[in-house]
Amino acid sequence: MKKSTIEVTCDYKDFVVFHTTCKCGDTSHILGTVVEDDGENPYPQVTLYFPCGRFEVHRTWANLPKRIYKRIIDSCKMLFTGNLDVDDEFMFRDESHVKDFRSALEEAINQVEEYVKIKEAKV
Ligand SMILES: [Zn+2]
Repeated sequence: MKKSTIEVTCDYKDFVVFHTTCKCGDTSHILGTVVEDDGENPYPQVTLYFPCGRFEVHRTWANLPKRIYKRIIDSCKMLFTGNLDVDDEFMFRDESHVKDFRSALEEAINQVEEYVKIKEAKV
């Protein structure tokens, strides 16, 4: 499985992982997908993950005081409430990027389903 906008990072019969990167060019914006047979369900498990551990969008020296203030406020929220909402966004580049992602997902699911059938036939 290899698509132009999809990078397969792990490809086993029961476990497939692939990544795709965001349109914005930020190398930390990755949409990861894991398709696996976890042995507990009759169908493959599909997990999407999107790391969003960054709190700052505009990293410039000009807004350094504002960034430091926000870090202090966010730290206080985490310290006193134990919660901090962090969100980010992932942008597909165009229609073909979405189609590549859909195709990779379908292909990974088919691969894992085939593995499950073979495994069940042996039982
Ligand atoms: Zn992005």
